[in-house]
Amino acid sequence: MQTNFTSEQLADPEIEIAEKILRSCVHCGFCTATCPTYVILGDELDSPRGRIYLIKDMLENDKPATDDVTLHIDRCLSCLACMTTCPSGVDYMHLVDHARTRIDKTYQRPKIDRWTRTLLAKVLPDRDRFRWLLVAAAFVRPFSGIINLVPGLKRFAAMLDLAPKRPPLRLASAERHVFSPPQERKARVALLRGCAQSVLDPGINEAAIRLLTRNGIEVVMTENEGCCGALVHHMGRSEESHIQARQIIDAWTAELNGEGLDAILVTASGCGTTIKDYGFMLRLDPAYAEKAARVSALAKDISEYLDTLDLGEPEVPSHLNVAYHAACSLQHGQQITVAPKALLSNAGFNVSEPAEAHLCCGSAGTYNMLQPELSSQLRDRKVANLEAVEPDIIAAGNIGCLTQIAHGTDLPVVHTVELLDWAYGGPTPSNLAGGRSKTS
Ligand code: SF4
Ligand code: SF4
Repeated sequence: MQTNFTSEQLADPEIEIAEKILRSCVHCGFCTATCPTYVILGDELDSPRGRIYLIKDMLENDKPATDDVTLHIDRCLSCLACMTTCPSGVDYMHLVDHARTRIDKTYQRPKIDRWTRTLLAKVLPDRDRFRWLLVAAAFVRPFSGIINLVPGLKRFAAMLDLAPKRPPLRLASAERHVFSPPQERKARVALLRGCAQSVLDPGINEAAIRLLTRNGIEVVMTENEGCCGALVHHMGRSEESHIQARQIIDAWTAELNGEGLDAILVTASGCGTTIKDYGFMLRLDPAYAEKAARVSALAKDISEYLDTLDLGEPEVPSHLNVAYHAACSLQHGQQITVAPKALLSNAGFNVSEPAEAHLCCGSAGTYNMLQPELSSQLRDRKVANLEAVEPDIIAAGNIGCLTQIAHGTDLPVVHTVELLDWAYGGPTPSNLAGGRSKTS
């Protein structure tokens, strides 16, 4: 694609990168077919190519974000299916990240939109605030149908619908913890504690810790570890996301410089994609560029790491039918497609994939709260495809997808690592044991 930036514009390193990305697009349109919003809406401006044109116009002409640019960029899920499809290797992720930051800086959103975004940005990444919000939401939840009828409050109704019926009773500890293996230590890893996941389902990381320590891996959860920054990053609040990233980089760097780490593991693939991108995010920060790149190089999804271990023979041959939902952040963001299915299959599960496996479930960070109509359509389409393979269980590797899909089906929806822990001697996952229903 031909571009017309001035040399003055190109002196800005962010514009320099954006220009390179824009030039790599040959406007072939292959990406449109796999873009969920284009599939649903059929509007070129809601396709990757259309969005690229909108971004090009905004950046080349040095314009503030318009209503049109904001509407169509806001509708993008950042699912990155377009990057998997694109034959020219267009780095859409960094282009749309840049566009979201520009929208945040130059577009005056309506008041209710600003308040909603501020509420999400201040509450979701903070475990204590999020937990208290869920406690409050549990009381208001029965009125979500009425709230949904009030103009301007549809997003709050969507948030209430997504909140668990029963507020979380326990919160994973925020202190430093070292989980040592019972036998000789083979490796030492850090495990991301996470923000929303540790409130919604602390059992996921507990399953990972059991499985890892049984296999001789020491696991450390560091202190002073907040949100990884992914949630606000996808809202265009880049300065806030960089502050959160620096905090967690400091926590892991202290551990790296202490006893050392062989890997940094993540059980929420949405967070993993962002952590693997820290090196890029902080490349212009002289104090953090090197540390960020080091952390990114060590970051691994839990399935990616488990795939390097010999887990032995499963203790609970289940032969249950598992429909594997590939989270976009895992399949498109990190290109991890084979390991989770192979691990489940080796553990004794009959694994199948639904039709349209490349399409997003509509969760996408805060998307299901900010774009509830589009998100519900994608969820219902995903659930129909998953249920069509007649599984006993639906498995996925990202808390956002687990929550989203669970609100559209009565089937148990379980994290991949919980199934693996169970198969190799751990307890039955709470969703299967009847201890936790889909919305409790
Ligand atoms: S597939 Fe790639 S090169 Fe073709 S229009 Fe989409 S982003 Fe551009
Ligand atoms: S990230 Fe997803 S929703 Fe956004 S343009 Fe690409 S395929 Fe479409």
